[in-house]
Amino acid sequence: MNIDFKDKKALVRVDFNVPLNDQYEITDDTRIQAALPTIRHILDNGGSAILMSHLGRPGKKLNADGTINREKYTLQHLVGYLSNALDTSVVFSTQTVGSRSVILADELKPGEILLLENTRFEPGEKTGDKDFARRLAALADVYVNDAFGTAHRAHASTTTVADFFDADKKTFGFLMESELKNAQRVLNTPGRPLTAIIGGAKVSDKILLLEKLIELADNIIIGGGMAYTFLRAQGGQTGQSLVEEDKITLAGELLKQAKASNTQLLLPYDSVIADAFSEDAKKDTVPSHEIPDGWMGLDIGPKARVAFAEVIAASKTILWNGPMGVFEMPSFAEGTKNIALAVAKATSKGAFSLVGGGDSVAAVKQMKLADEVSYVSTGGGAMLELLEGKTLPGVAAIQG
Ligand code: AMP
Repeated sequence: MNIDFKDKKALVRVDFNVPLNDQYEITDDTRIQAALPTIRHILDNGGSAILMSHLGRPGKKLNADGTINREKYTLQHLVGYLSNALDTSVVFSTQTVGSRSVILADELKPGEILLLENTRFEPGEKTGDKDFARRLAALADVYVNDAFGTAHRAHASTTTVADFFDADKKTFGFLMESELKNAQRVLNTPGRPLTAIIGGAKVSDKILLLEKLIELADNIIIGGGMAYTFLRAQGGQTGQSLVEEDKITLAGELLKQAKASNTQLLLPYDSVIADAFSEDAKKDTVPSHEIPDGWMGLDIGPKARVAFAEVIAASKTILWNGPMGVFEMPSFAEGTKNIALAVAKATSKGAFSLVGGGDSVAAVKQMKLADEVSYVSTGGGAMLELLEGKTLPGVAAIQG
């Protein structure tokens, strides 16, 4: 962060979109924790911070009368947690913009924090409205974007607002800097071999990523539900496994592209199958090409785990996005667990590993291995788009 914050009011876009329980208590504070170093830095350097974030999807889950459920989605729920975490009082503005927030921002002194109400209470947020962005910008002297999780959205508080600050008055926060640096390390200067482990439910969500990786990676390991669309493209019998019928041809094309680019694309040799999508279903292990009717593949099998772990062990850079099976059910979590352990082991031997994308991050955390990989991204969709090679609007707005 190359800004001198002394006596400056910094408008900071953070990602405080944390899960809350019925009592409105924070159940996972990862995103807030990730933003604290930037906030502390601003305060320690003699500045004050005006924090803004969205929380949930208030526009999608309206009250019965069509109004916004302010009680559920107010950022006021975070005030107690924040003042504890930062050991200072946090002033809350019940408005995002308006006369009240202007007064509170004016009164703010160095070392103090003002938290604005949920940016998504304002209709102009998601449309990237200029007038809303101008009113936000008018509250502060400088702008800091540390909300990596929403950097792929061209919203008013993540993108448009930056237009109202000169180049030397806007910057990324520490979290944004490290997310970008780690993604760029994989994309631009990977130690080789570079192995991408791609899993999760659907091929359709990851087509662009796979196309990019075919150009970039030495090995692509494919697991999870999406593997079965590829197995079908090879002529396999996949029973009732999750297959996207309309993506079978595309999967065949991707297999060909990988071959032409000399990228080794590995599919699971065997699968743990079940006769229902349930923890209590009957289970068996069979070659992935021979899944009988009435059965579905819900995890990679033991032979696949060994083969994948060998490739991971020989890698110098590892990118992991998406679980290898239905890891939420203990019966089908072994594959994901083994891959997490293999990634941690390769990291301990000097490989650089980046875990990005919601569910693989959840898996690594569930297995208490988050500290044993090189970097765990806080942004699901944003990291995916960055790795696809896209320029994120929130990043472009700062870089100009
Ligand atoms: P994604 O959001 O695309 O990364 O997908 C994550 C989801 O994929 C998780 O909820 C997993 O339970 C699910 N998943 C992984 N493997 C399978 C599979 N073999 N069949 C069905 N769902 C799967």
